[in-house]
Amino acid sequence: MTTPTPLPEYAFFDGRIVPYREARVGVMTHGLQYGTGCFGGLRGFWNRAEEELFVFRPHDHFQRFLESARLLSLELPYSVDDLVAALGSLLRQEGLRADCYIRPLAFAAEERIGALGLEGMRSAVSIVAIPFSKYIENDLGAHVKISAWRRIDDNMIPARGKVSGAYVNTALAKTDAQRGGFDDAIFLDQNGHVSEASAANLFIVRNGAVATPPVTDNILEGITRRSILDMLREELAIPAIERSIDRTELSLADEVFLAGTGVQIVSVTRIDHRPVGTGRMGPVTASLRKLNAEIVRGEVPRYRRWCWPVYASAAAGAPAPAIAR
Ligand code: PMP
Repeated sequence: MTTPTPLPEYAFFDGRIVPYREARVGVMTHGLQYGTGCFGGLRGFWNRAEEELFVFRPHDHFQRFLESARLLSLELPYSVDDLVAALGSLLRQEGLRADCYIRPLAFAAEERIGALGLEGMRSAVSIVAIPFSKYIENDLGAHVKISAWRRIDDNMIPARGKVSGAYVNTALAKTDAQRGGFDDAIFLDQNGHVSEASAANLFIVRNGAVATPPVTDNILEGITRRSILDMLREELAIPAIERSIDRTELSLADEVFLAGTGVQIVSVTRIDHRPVGTGRMGPVTASLRKLNAEIVRGEVPRYRRWCWPVYASAAAGAPAPAIAR
């Protein structure tokens, strides 16, 4: 059962913060008709001791957001700094003092049918933030299925970007997995290599070393993935490599885990009814989950650079963005 998403009070929409109900598009909008848009997914973590909301790596998320728009030839009138500042204003206006999920969206905004080309297309950008709920409930021991749907190939729809229309592929795989009683799906790519899960990158642990598919195996270039590779190498001194992974390696892995902004780090304990390793969460996954949970909340000084303080940024007099079209 999915819990209904609470609606936010406000949205950043077309350069202004407006009541959420005013952030609307017409049904002829290109992005709605054809999926010609891209989005992001960020999280804010409430640090109770400091009474501060930390957004995790917002500059990196908005950099990827702008790159996804570039892949679509959508021109957006904002820089990364504009978007971070807009997000700060939105979160403060919304008054969020709890863990939250943040969703920026850019889309082809013209209301025209039959003209598919994106050259010169007017675009629009929105950002909303909602209190967070879990993407996968069973994060201590997820049961996943290797999907019969293949991951979209980079020559079909850019796989490394977060392109709205491409999530039809995700929705089909997730629906089938859930109908089959699984928590999530793992995609193989057109070459039969393991690509990723429905909305998370995948890692295996075998003989004390970690491997994850390279960015050339049709994965989304995940920011959590990048953070985890750093944590493994710098903090846990565990060798971590990026290489293609075969399907049968999943059956022999000691541990498998998924990583993404929504799921954070989820231990996978069964794949297609086969236990992974001992069938319980392994030590590498457990150590990473603990370290990551501290880092994202701003509790580890060495990684404070990844945590952007929403309220202190305003108090420090960060200039309000000149957001006008
Ligand atoms: N792959 C896909 C398909 C995703 O949708 C996501 C979630 N954005 C991820 C991986 C994980 O990426 P990130 O760590 O940047 O959230």
